[in-house]
Amino acid sequence: MKAFTSKTFWIETWGCQMNELDTQRMAGQLMQSGMLPTREVEDADLILLNSCSVRAKAENKVFSQLGRYRQLKRTNPDLLIGLCGCVAQQVGESALDRNPDLDFVLGPARVGELSEILERRRFGERVVATGFPEERHFDIDTISRAGAYKGMVTAIEGCDKNCTFCIVPFTRGPERCRPMEEIVAEVEHLVEYGFLEIELLGQTVNHWRQPEGRWDFADLLDRVARVPGVERLRFVTSYPRDFSPRMVEQFARHSNICPYLHLPVQSGSDRILKRMGRGYTVEAFLQLVDQLRQARPGIALSTDFIIGFPGETKEDFQATISLVEDVEFASIYAFKYSPRPGTAAVNLPNPVDDGIASQRLQQVLALQERIQRSLNEKLVGSEMEVLVTGWGEAAQLQSGRTACHRIVHFPAEPAARPLGSIAPVVIEKANPHSLLGRQPLLQ
Ligand code: SF4
Repeated sequence: MKAFTSKTFWIETWGCQMNELDTQRMAGQLMQSGMLPTREVEDADLILLNSCSVRAKAENKVFSQLGRYRQLKRTNPDLLIGLCGCVAQQVGESALDRNPDLDFVLGPARVGELSEILERRRFGERVVATGFPEERHFDIDTISRAGAYKGMVTAIEGCDKNCTFCIVPFTRGPERCRPMEEIVAEVEHLVEYGFLEIELLGQTVNHWRQPEGRWDFADLLDRVARVPGVERLRFVTSYPRDFSPRMVEQFARHSNICPYLHLPVQSGSDRILKRMGRGYTVEAFLQLVDQLRQARPGIALSTDFIIGFPGETKEDFQATISLVEDVEFASIYAFKYSPRPGTAAVNLPNPVDDGIASQRLQQVLALQERIQRSLNEKLVGSEMEVLVTGWGEAAQLQSGRTACHRIVHFPAEPAARPLGSIAPVVIEKANPHSLLGRQPLLQ
């Protein structure tokens, strides 16, 4: 039996903001028990791999990292390694069978039980904590937000949509909404703590409903935007079909709701959207884009595309290209289709040849790069407010995000700006993926 003597921890995180927040939650519990984060994984007494299973590549990466880290047990026999996140939920106990050096498996809905699991490990048990408990407690005081510049707040967990390609409903379970009062209390707590930017989280955040109540996400947005001190409000991820006119209205009503929206469309072809089980058409998506642009002129939109979904023809792909040209997204996240075990799409006929899918992916990315460069060039000469999030790679260069979510680098002159503050920056140069500017001269 191994005694639990860990003093330092290392957490590696893959995937979405939900995973980032789970990492903050686990770090908070560990720090409350007296452990400290370490700068080098080699020095850690506890390693947590907070995994993502949306694509096979991310899943493979976590297992190769596990193989690498198990070597560290040779020099530190007290080292504990835990597999967390969506892969943990997906593979469960089999991960322990396949990896004798793995100490425990912790699914995303159980991260609040980390301290208890480490205690059980101390008594020799290799715990598998997966599944979705009915009662979920959000202990906001044990979230370690150190180093974060925006306060992430869970609004809704899980997903009931069952898009045919997606593994999330299996790994994050059914939808569970937090009550509005609990969400608002957490936002107020974050504002008091000094956060200027709040991000509401959920796999389908705009499907939020007050449990046993009548409020929907439009009411939640309206309420959170009114919390004094919330300078910037974002939310991710929105499901196009669930975006109501009342939600669109909030963009016009509250200037602190950021002029940026991530709205995953996945394909520009109705035929493919149907095969994906998305429940909307390209026309409906374009109408929503128009409504958003009327409510908030200049709003930056980003989206996701799956390229090479089973059955995607040349014409279907061309429809995706046309959509990218028509909408002019500020950014896109495009990936080749990755079959996920247990999802309906793995049984669909007519898989797309991998070489063709790669070519299509390159084509859409090249087009988007041209669009982004041209959109960003239009911002040269304007003054933008940048939430300072860190230092650039070059010395004396700070970096941050505009309200429309663009990355900006600027020299720390005449003075360096504190991280987490908002700085005015005049844009002088545009790249496809970032902007370069300077702080305006003092009058
Ligand atoms: S809405 Fe669809 S793609 Fe998004 S998490 Fe739910 S099942 Fe997955």
